[in-house]
Amino acid sequence: MNTSNQQRIEEYRVLSEPFYLPQGNEVELALAAAREQLPLLLKGPTGCGKTRFMRYIAWRLGRPLITVSCHDDLSTSDLIGRYLVKGMEAMWLDGPLTLAVRHGAICYLDEIVEARKDTTVVIHPLADDRRELPVEKLGMIYAAPAEFMLAVSYNPGYQSVLKDLKPSTRQRFVSLSFSYPRPDLESRIVMSEGKIDEPLAARLVRLAGMTRSLKESGLAEGASTRLLIQAAQLLRQGLDIRSACRAGIIESLTDDPELLEAMEEMVQSIF
Ligand code: ADP
Repeated sequence: MNTSNQQRIEEYRVLSEPFYLPQGNEVELALAAAREQLPLLLKGPTGCGKTRFMRYIAWRLGRPLITVSCHDDLSTSDLIGRYLVKGMEAMWLDGPLTLAVRHGAICYLDEIVEARKDTTVVIHPLADDRRELPVEKLGMIYAAPAEFMLAVSYNPGYQSVLKDLKPSTRQRFVSLSFSYPRPDLESRIVMSEGKIDEPLAARLVRLAGMTRSLKESGLAEGASTRLLIQAAQLLRQGLDIRSACRAGIIESLTDDPELLEAMEEMVQSIF
């Protein structure tokens, strides 16, 4: 392993224990999957703890975690790597997937359905019992070591027919379903991450529950745990409840005047 690659992988180590409150037996399931060298599919709405969970699992396993936020331009080359021309020389640079395979790391592809469809060519052979990565440009097929783990996430709430996971892809994974944590757990998370007191955290969680019920009225998604923590941070900075909830939660959820007003009323009724 050359020095620059060694340095690069070291940057992905999770050095201290991330704070993670389990929602059920997802930690045991993920550790069992890791022991059996099975890939993970995390399903759930945005901001409900999937990324934090992967950091925690990486820490438990003592493996580096390489996270890729997928987008509609993300191609196979972005994952595998490419030659870079430096002066007169062409230098190969590993992409995140190759780096993870070579060094026995965890590669987490966040919002996998956003990636270009050609990426399945490299994901499929890695996600089944072949566990190999074809790198065409190097004329190599890398066998993934036992420590390598593939994890992907997606949000079923956003899916359209065009952006759904194909059965041939999803049936290669062990699937863990995430939702927002139970109110008592979510209060503890908001308290701990947002550094506010329990009664205030509990009220933010109550507000979140009410916004989540607005899905039937056309709100794309209710307030995530992430937004509650954000509002808590504004409160901690001395902002008043109304401004913190408006800027930290409500305006981030919609532009629709009626829904905005409905949520303002929720804030007033709770605080
Ligand atoms: P996702 O990846 O699902 O979009 P994140 O993992 O980024 O969401 O979660 C958003 C934030 O919520 C995290 O940064 C963390 O502060 C908090 N969080 C959510 N769930 C948990 C949990 N179970 N334990 C600890 N923190 C959590």
